[in-house]
Amino acid sequence: MNTAAPSFATRAEVDGWTIDALDDGHFRLDGGAMWGVVPANIWRALTPPAEDNTIRMSLRPFLARRGDRVVVIEGGVGARWSDKLRGIYHIEGGGHLAASLARLGVARDDVTDVVLSHCHWDHVGALVVDGPNGPEPLCPRARHHAPAVEIERCLAPDHVRRGSYRPEDLLPLQERGLLVALETRPGGPEHPGEAVAEPVPGIRVHVLGGHSEGVSAILVGDGEAPGPDRAAVFWSDVVPTTHHVQPPYIMAYDIDVIRSYEVRGRWLERAAERGWIGLFYHDPDVALARLERDGRRFRAVPLPA
Ligand SMILES: [Zn+2]
Repeated sequence: MNTAAPSFATRAEVDGWTIDALDDGHFRLDGGAMWGVVPANIWRALTPPAEDNTIRMSLRPFLARRGDRVVVIEGGVGARWSDKLRGIYHIEGGGHLAASLARLGVARDDVTDVVLSHCHWDHVGALVVDGPNGPEPLCPRARHHAPAVEIERCLAPDHVRRGSYRPEDLLPLQERGLLVALETRPGGPEHPGEAVAEPVPGIRVHVLGGHSEGVSAILVGDGEAPGPDRAAVFWSDVVPTTHHVQPPYIMAYDIDVIRSYEVRGRWLERAAERGWIGLFYHDPDVALARLERDGRRFRAVPLPA
């Protein structure tokens, strides 16, 4: 394994936004589950597993700043974990988000908005912290925006989804009136089957579905305008790592594989065509990468430091 310090970028500027990679530690999930039907001899070369077949993944929210808006995209895994679950998921770190913001000169109170792609525990867990009087919001002044269906599933998970959602990750936000369901409009002919919202001017959330019912791609900047560095796309679990850039490389966790295939194909194509910068949540090595066409395949090209 390469243990040298990463030589890849952790900051990008698009359309007046400054975007920085944050850090909430790492965890490990079963490699086979992360790679679905992809044959083991292919994925083991791309993401080498440990002896227990797990692969290491980052928990990497992003900070986007423009004017008076200080926006956290995605919510880490947090520190509210039993030793047993820490062990099962090999959670290293977790609960780093405040320190990670502080390194960029941002206090918890400074955050104006949190935008969430979906509400699985590895994407929202850090937004509630243990305070002196019980659980409290990490960002007490921020409006927390999430797809409506994700809020519903998280607060009342059914049997199938119980392993993916924890109501206690959102309840303290809801009780304080900080949780806002996205107000969406239909995506139109260019975004069939998608619902689109703009919770912060210049940040659009495209509710796609596939991985979960409401999983979204979050577009920062003006994605429609031509030219480089106009937009960045937060891929969330639609494209969890830079190795998952071929449309059929779909996780076994996805609840609607056909939908995943369809939206991934469309969005990978669009990102490559328009030169969007990709923001990767689970890639342990690369935070920011552009997609390029490579014949009929795609290639993720990390942004140099
Ligand atoms: Zn995830």
